[in-house]
Amino acid sequence: MTVEGQRGLVVKAHLGYVKQQWGAEALRECCGHIGMGYDDIDEDEFYSRDVENAVLTWISRNKGMEHVQRSGHHGVMNLGVYSYLIPQKSIETIARVAEMSYMDTYNYGSIKVISNPREKTIFVQFVAKDRMPENCAAWLGAMQGIFDLAKVRGSVEHIRCVHKGDPLCEYRLRWR
Ligand SMILES: [Zn+2]
Repeated sequence: MTVEGQRGLVVKAHLGYVKQQWGAEALRECCGHIGMGYDDIDEDEFYSRDVENAVLTWISRNKGMEHVQRSGHHGVMNLGVYSYLIPQKSIETIARVAEMSYMDTYNYGSIKVISNPREKTIFVQFVAKDRMPENCAAWLGAMQGIFDLAKVRGSVEHIRCVHKGDPLCEYRLRWR
C-alpha cells in the first residue's frame, strides 16, 4: 500500500523557505523536528504527508501562520521542473499547470480548476481528507504565487473551507 504523501521537492521547498528566512540553525531545528536531514530528502521520492505537515506545523508554531502562507508562495515561485512552462503564459494556463503538477506531486486528494476567462475568475477546488489549517494557508500562498508568476495583479480568497464546515476547500482567483 502506498503511503499518502508528496514528493520530496515539496518538503525541500518549505525547508528552503525556513533556511532563507531564519538561517541554518532554524533549518537544523526544523529538520530535527521532522527527523530527516535536508540532504537526505530525494526530490522525486514520495514521503508521507506527515512530513510536509510536520514542517508546516513547525513553521506555524514557531513563526506564525502567515509564514506558512509565505512558504507556500515561495514553493510556487521555485517550481523547478515546471518553471519552463510559465513565462509568457496566461493565468488560465498557469492554473492548468498547477492542476497537472498537483497530480504529479501529490498522491492523495485532488485539485480541480474551473476557469472563467471572460469574468477573469478561476475557482480552484481541493478535495483531501484531514486537511490542516496549515494546508489551507500554504495553498493560499501558492495561489497568490500564480499571479506573481504571471506578473498579473489579482487577489485570492479562500471562499469555502472544510474548517468552516464546507465539503471542500475552494479558492477564488480574480484579476483585472
Ligand atoms: Zn480550507
